Amino acid sequence: MAGETKKIIEALWDCPYCGAKGIGGLTKVCPSCGHPQDAGTKFYMGDKKAYVEGDKAANYGKGADWTCAYCGALNRYDAAECSGCGAAREESQSDYFQNQKENARKAQEEAAREQQFTAPQPTPAPQKKKVKSKKKLLIALGAAALLLVLLIALLIPKAATAEVSGKAWQRSISIEQYTTVTETDWSIPEGGRIREQHEEIHHYNQVLDHYETVAVEKSRQVQDGYDTETDYEDNGDGTFTETTREVPRYKTEYYTEYEEEPVYLSVPVYATQYTYEIERWLPGRTADSEGNDDAPYWQDFTLLDNEREGTRSEQYTVTLTGKKGKTYSVNLTESLWNSLMTGKSVKIKATGSKVTEIDGTKIG
Ligand SMILES: [Zn+2]
Ligand SMILES: [Zn+2]
Repeated sequence: MAGETKKIIEALWDCPYCGAKGIGGLTKVCPSCGHPQDAGTKFYMGDKKAYVEGDKAANYGKGADWTCAYCGALNRYDAAECSGCGAAREESQSDYFQNQKENARKAQEEAAREQQFTAPQPTPAPQKKKVKSKKKLLIALGAAALLLVLLIALLIPKAATAEVSGKAWQRSISIEQYTTVTETDWSIPEGGRIREQHEEIHHYNQVLDHYETVAVEKSRQVQDGYDTETDYEDNGDGTFTETTREVPRYKTEYYTEYEEEPVYLSVPVYATQYTYEIERWLPGRTADSEGNDDAPYWQDFTLLDNEREGTRSEQYTVTLTGKKGKTYSVNLTESLWNSLMTGKSVKIKATGSKVTEIDGTKIG
């Protein structure tokens, strides 16, 4: 069963004056030298637990001993006067726990002072190492910065002067022909002439057929008895309180659960599919023209009875030659291409082999 039990255990203390060890915490005066428990006294748990039995236990764990401001002796929390010198409790300032805090603070200060005197001077070797690693870091940082600069330099377009060393143009007119084609579809468009029809699977419907029982492995946490937890608390009155707790312990239990899962059938849905002939405008021949001069023109053509004019396409290219003989081929709009005469000097920006700007005009 879950619960909590508390027991009082008599603590131990050591006398710093005569060196006697393991004196019972309820023995307030050292049996060897007669010195009383005082501000320097620290209670501890012995290997053997000396339980304070019966009604006597009810007297402990109620309050920490107080320290007499005059003679330094420890006195029970409920004592109105010091057992050593008779001074009133009101005169006292601190109790056992305040003493422990103060002693710990003093010990820390002492340890710090000790370290200051005995700490070895930093040897030159690790210092040198530090400088070395700092140097390494600086070199790495420098390399990274250089790389970044190089990367930026590559990405930023370079401004340069170039000469228009060549021009070319291409024009093309698509001529479409009215052609009879065969198509297959779920319906016949206007003008279509049916050739064949049959039933074909159009799509599938998912239809619930039945349920299937499937085993699903599951797990759950179930209680599996209790664990006992024990801790000890210094009461500051020469005793410790032992608290024993019963804590539920859990284990993982595996079990099988059966679930009903739906099973679906794919049922085909049929529809009539038609094969038909129909006339469509399809790309046939093209009327092309090209040149390396400044006078582009559209090729003349004559339409036959079953032909019509389709889309027109055109391309205008200049070749630019830089100072070091590097050439760039650039496609332009017709108006920009017209404005660039062969032999003309232009200012360009280029990224790698791609020209991005000519005389301030951005090139897509
Ligand atoms: Zn002693
Ligand atoms: Zn006293």
